[in-house]
Amino acid sequence: MKKFLWFAPLVGLVLIACSTVSMTGRKQLNLVSEAEILSASLTEYQNYMQTAKVSTNANATAIVKNVAQRIAAAAEAYLQVTGQEADIQNYAWEFNLTQDPELNAFCMPGGKIVVYEGMLNLIGNGADRDDELAAVIGHEVGHAMAKHGNERASQQLLASLGSSVVGIAVSGQSTQVQQAVATAYGLGAQYGALLPFSRKQELEADYIGIVLATIAGYDADAAVTLWQKMEAAGGGSTPEFMSTHPSSSSRIKQLQKSIPEVKAAFSGAAAAAGVSTPSSSTPASTTTKKTTTKAGTGFKIG
Ligand SMILES: [Zn+2]
Repeated sequence: MKKFLWFAPLVGLVLIACSTVSMTGRKQLNLVSEAEILSASLTEYQNYMQTAKVSTNANATAIVKNVAQRIAAAAEAYLQVTGQEADIQNYAWEFNLTQDPELNAFCMPGGKIVVYEGMLNLIGNGADRDDELAAVIGHEVGHAMAKHGNERASQQLLASLGSSVVGIAVSGQSTQVQQAVATAYGLGAQYGALLPFSRKQELEADYIGIVLATIAGYDADAAVTLWQKMEAAGGGSTPEFMSTHPSSSSRIKQLQKSIPEVKAAFSGAAAAAGVSTPSSSTPASTTTKKTTTKAGTGFKIG
């Protein structure tokens, strides 16, 4: 028995730190306190913005800010209606478009959303531009809402520190946490390669993304055309969108399965939640359907 003793505190911690992703019901391990994740994420975001070049295209920036603001409002509305507003009470949303040709976008925990010009160029200027942008931003906010950063940082900490992570989890701000968050987001080059999101996390973010887009009044079908464009664009060394596990075809299949369920559950939720519908698309139904139904039950990941 003796050789297993080191494991005992870890088991206790794992039980304590196991939480549930509200929109999908998936269990996850979050070892790091939200306060630490927010603090470390803010540092990473500020580091990124210090070196990033903000877009000089005022029109494109306004387009991104408009869609991002509506997705953020949809996230807040969903969490309020489901009694989970505490999850983002310390968020301070910021929306940016940066001059980077990569196909990328991210949302740090804390609500710092960045879209790269390369992503906007891929989407183009068609009639479904804002809907596809909503799919991108919804996906990124989905990672933040589902606390995937915490989950990745926790996995990183477990892998590198083993049972001594117990000390880290209760010690307040630490360099290990900062390093784990930096690695999880791939923004701190000095810490090595990006730890990619897992396949489950990617599909979960896709699902939350189409829920948020639908609540915000966008057409969730655009998530499919977005991924078709990504697939056509081929590979490339991009930190988030192209380095992920599910192939485009498998996530498109999953999206096509989920979209009708999500539309049935959440269309019209925008009006009920007080989220104004986008001016550039058909207004959502004005029937006052409440968003108290969680659509996660029909969601299969795996
Ligand atoms: Zn992702």
